[in-house]
Amino acid sequence: MHRLLNPIIRAIYRFFRISYRFRRLNFYCEQLWLRTSILQDGRLEPCNCAISQMDPKPPEPTILDTWKSGLFASTREYLLDRMANPGKIPNAESAYDCCASCPVAPNQRFDRVFIRDIIRDCVAFKSKVAPVMVLRKLINLMKLIREVNGRRSQITAYPMLANLDPANVCNLRCPECAVGTGEINQPQGMMEWGTYEKTLDEIGPYLFYLELFRYGDPLLHKDILKIIEVAEKKYGIITLISSNFSMPLDEEFLRGLIKSGLSRLIVAIDDVEQDLYVKYRRGGDANRVIDQLKTLIRLKKEMNSETPHIRWQTLIFNFNEDRKEEIEKFAWDLGVDDFGFMPAYLSPNNYDLKPKEKKTRGGKDNRKSQIIRAEVVSGEVRFGEPFRLEVEAVQNVFTEAIPPSPEDSGIRLGIKMADRDKKEMGDLGRILFEKEFKPAETIVFSKEFSFPDDSKVEDIAYLKIDFLLEGKFWFEQNMEIQSQPYFLEIEFKKESVGS
Ligand code: SF4
Ligand code: SF4
Repeated sequence: MHRLLNPIIRAIYRFFRISYRFRRLNFYCEQLWLRTSILQDGRLEPCNCAISQMDPKPPEPTILDTWKSGLFASTREYLLDRMANPGKIPNAESAYDCCASCPVAPNQRFDRVFIRDIIRDCVAFKSKVAPVMVLRKLINLMKLIREVNGRRSQITAYPMLANLDPANVCNLRCPECAVGTGEINQPQGMMEWGTYEKTLDEIGPYLFYLELFRYGDPLLHKDILKIIEVAEKKYGIITLISSNFSMPLDEEFLRGLIKSGLSRLIVAIDDVEQDLYVKYRRGGDANRVIDQLKTLIRLKKEMNSETPHIRWQTLIFNFNEDRKEEIEKFAWDLGVDDFGFMPAYLSPNNYDLKPKEKKTRGGKDNRKSQIIRAEVVSGEVRFGEPFRLEVEAVQNVFTEAIPPSPEDSGIRLGIKMADRDKKEMGDLGRILFEKEFKPAETIVFSKEFSFPDDSKVEDIAYLKIDFLLEGKFWFEQNMEIQSQPYFLEIEFKKESVGS
């Protein structure tokens, strides 16, 4: 069977390769066109930033109904329109807010290598799957590719990939994670078995890959081994788990993990020294992670199993950026199958963990500055007293003119207060555009502000000035616009007098 299947897959892969050459390969976002994400309560989300726009209960009875219509379809339409008209001013009323300001989507391409790797994984991990099952997945994939290449916003094929969150709880308290900080804005718990079964009954036959993690740590789900086994063995899906591996896992569980058929395991461990490791993985135990990994590697050998393929993954922070070689050597010596560094996702204000090297997720260096100059032109900067701010700005991001901004919507200048470390402390105010702002035009804006009495500013503060699209995004956060905020230093002298 194995011998028969490989040539079939190779032939179909060659067909795709040839057909790709005649098609346009770029699309907007993998999350909206190829993949679906299923929360622990069974709802579908496009991305983890969209939760506030999601209904509390699934409005449609099936995953496909939700995926092909409603806000999913109108968001695709919005993104396609923006891709077809680069430089057009975003009108994002019918899209998920976070998609309108997404730093990831513009860089995504319909990637032959990505499809090839998935098919290669199928050959490597799933060569014993019944050919009829493989054929069903491939037929759906062809339909999906046709719809993506046709720039359809209403996708009627099933997604080829899915993320599913077995548990959105965690044993650790990582400071940049919504679960770790307790800031997650959705009900927390474990996926019910019935929800899982219903989900896989519908999309399982079409999936190539199922990532069994989203917000929390999947290994905390009491039925995680059964969850993996059903996906792998009943539906022939490649499963992938990412875990902190820092909860106690005994030998019996680790044997079960191997037997479940899990194809890939990512273990997130950022340092091998406990005192450094806990700077991010708060509440974790690096020695336990390492010991359990050693056991798993030993058991794989004893059980003569090639799976799970184990990847050690290290996020780069300031405490480990100079220790990269040492950490990598340690991991390879332990016997992992793969190793990788990843830039950590750090919010702009997180100076405690920020590495010196510039690579952080969602950021680029070649940003455009739109604020040429900003200064206080009259009055003294005292708490509660008015001062006049003058800002000179250039319109260098859009090919169309920015229209005047009405009272509660549109593009305007935003000013935030920040402390001496440039950590944001809150909004100071907005400057509206009273007239059209043409491309390449320079305008000087001026407006009166005052620092609120209760500002926790000491001797030095900053005004952070940038463009924003009201209610949607600040331009600095939008990769497509790639704006660069301007920081105006304010010196508060004794008796709170500044200049
Ligand atoms: S936020 Fe970005 S990556 Fe997420 S679904 Fe929207 S466009 Fe895609
Ligand atoms: S280990 Fe993962 S899920 Fe848990 S708190 Fe840290 S980042 Fe969040």
